[in-house]
Amino acid sequence: MSTERLSIPQYAMALAHVASLRSEDPYRKVGAAALDFDNRVIGTAYNGLAPGYDPPPGFWDDREARQKFMLHAEVNLCSLFRRGEVKLVATTTMPCTACMQTLCAYGVREIYYRDIYQESDAEEIARIYRVRLERVCEYPGC
Ligand SMILES: [Zn+2]
Repeated sequence: MSTERLSIPQYAMALAHVASLRSEDPYRKVGAAALDFDNRVIGTAYNGLAPGYDPPPGFWDDREARQKFMLHAEVNLCSLFRRGEVKLVATTTMPCTACMQTLCAYGVREIYYRDIYQESDAEEIARIYRVRLERVCEYPGC
């Protein structure tokens, strides 16, 4: 274990990682964490079904069929704050195109991800809107 102090992106990613452990999706567990402009934790979230929904037996067996019902970690995260309150979001998987758009709409300035998601336009969106989008792979617990 390094004695160096954690960077803020590493700190946020470690929180996102812990949040991902709560995901009920057996195929892809995604966690996310939001920090404000003073680096205070606003909240954490993970991908899953809407609160209160009890899936019928067999629901988790068909990934294609259930995909549209899964609420992404970033969208769940954005439900915890108002536009302009959050500076930084860490998410264990690169935001999909829709989530990247949502994070931009909420005024998030820095986005860190661990796993690459090929089908996403996140990098192009980040360039156009001047949002920092960087990969963070090394953090405690990874
Ligand atoms: Zn998404």
